[in-house]
Amino acid sequence: MIDSFLDRLEKVKQLHNGKYMARCPAHEDGRPSLMISANQVKISLHCFAGCSIDDICLSVGMQVKDLYFDNQSEFDKDKWRLEKLSVEAKEVHGIIMMYEQAGKLTDKEQDKLLQHRKRFYYLQKQIRSLM
Ligand SMILES: [Zn+2]
Repeated sequence: MIDSFLDRLEKVKQLHNGKYMARCPAHEDGRPSLMISANQVKISLHCFAGCSIDDICLSVGMQVKDLYFDNQSEFDKDKWRLEKLSVEAKEVHGIIMMYEQAGKLTDKEQDKLLQHRKRFYYLQKQIRSLM
């Protein structure tokens, strides 16, 4: 996503800290004075000549909201779900192990073990679909 933004700029150079410098499209920029960086949420822009983010976006045919990664929230949701499922799967697995190590089980316990196995199977399937 940051690549498609960088494609719109000239004289893009990556710095060793992961940020980029490029010619600012919003003013007559002899040497690159626009700093670009990105985190998980958005692309950040800073023109050392003082151009506003609105002007910079406008100059490359974008809107400020385009700097935010929409897909990222979807990605985070999946990641968060995956974490939750993994934690539960671990718990359920622990319970299954406990029942299995207990040796002789009552009918009620057998039932519970079966339920937990089903749950574990279901969780694993969900986790696999998210990975
Ligand atoms: Zn500028």
